[in-house]
Amino acid sequence: MLNSIYGIMPEQLSAFLSSEYPAYRSQQLLKWIYEKKVFDPSKMTDLPATMQSYLSQAFDFSMPQIVQTLKSMDGSQKFRLLLSDGEQIEMVLMPEEKKLTLCVSSQIGCARDCSFCATGKMKLHRNLYPHEIVQQFLLASRETTERITNLVFMGMGEPLDNLENVLSALKLIQDERALAFSPRRTTISTCGIVPGIYALADSGVKVKLAVSLNSARNSIRDKLMPVNRKYPLSVLKKALLYFQKKNPFRITLEYILISGVNMEDEDLKALRQFSGDLSCKINFIPFNTLPFLPYLSPGEEELKSFLLKARGALPQTITLRRSRGIDIQGACGQLVVESNKISLRGAV
Ligand code: SF4
Repeated sequence: MLNSIYGIMPEQLSAFLSSEYPAYRSQQLLKWIYEKKVFDPSKMTDLPATMQSYLSQAFDFSMPQIVQTLKSMDGSQKFRLLLSDGEQIEMVLMPEEKKLTLCVSSQIGCARDCSFCATGKMKLHRNLYPHEIVQQFLLASRETTERITNLVFMGMGEPLDNLENVLSALKLIQDERALAFSPRRTTISTCGIVPGIYALADSGVKVKLAVSLNSARNSIRDKLMPVNRKYPLSVLKKALLYFQKKNPFRITLEYILISGVNMEDEDLKALRQFSGDLSCKINFIPFNTLPFLPYLSPGEEELKSFLLKARGALPQTITLRRSRGIDIQGACGQLVVESNKISLRGAV
């Protein structure tokens, strides 16, 4: 099987081509792929025909197929992609004022089984390869006339469970000769994989970190996110303090608001205690009721009163993020889960 061209670092490509072609040819090739988003060597018109056929025999240029596109009333677009082995993933483009955020997947399914998440119900099928992450960026760029301004690893999967491949993809995404995408506009979101947080901090790759916290009380977080039984809050906190020392960007704590679960005064008190000495901002996201999950969205009054108390109790910047694409199966993994007709009855 040929190696995918979209996982090859520019220096590897130059080294490979140097025996046959002058150095500027590899720059031309990179420009076709990463700037012009042309994925067929026969259409790279300033390359000699011999090089075009050499390239197609040396590398795999194929792309995942977009098998479904759903457009939300709020402008978000969700894409279901078919990979070469028949597996499927999702990516989402979310426009908002001057920003266009791309949300990518890092795994097919996920092993972490958070109780509020559609992807978790699929279990883990496999990790994505670096080229499959880069391909999501390339395909999404081709699907929009606007420039993608932000990249978030918040789609299917836990990125820190596939850290090596995520880092390889990020190196290509950030490389000046490839996609030249800004580290300060890239966010990895984790459920709290502590060894992965240390490894990411030490990797030298700069990105923003978001932690899906959802409760600062072990008794509640244990139920929402089984990962907490392995890496409880005190252990997670230590890792975040370490990350903060090594990385210039402020951490984001993501907190899904679930009615009757994590919105009491007690919860705010615990959140204040957890976040007190972290340089972070806190992002509240009202949960959206899903047919196959046992949780309820907060009502508008409940939400208002919680936010008022939160603003009084927490010194950090607080934001409220409404879920995007509610009308297009907006929850991460929902589209693939529903298109696969995976039985979720056992999950509730
Ligand atoms: S929320 Fe993230 S880590 Fe948890 S099951 Fe879903 S994809 Fe996995």
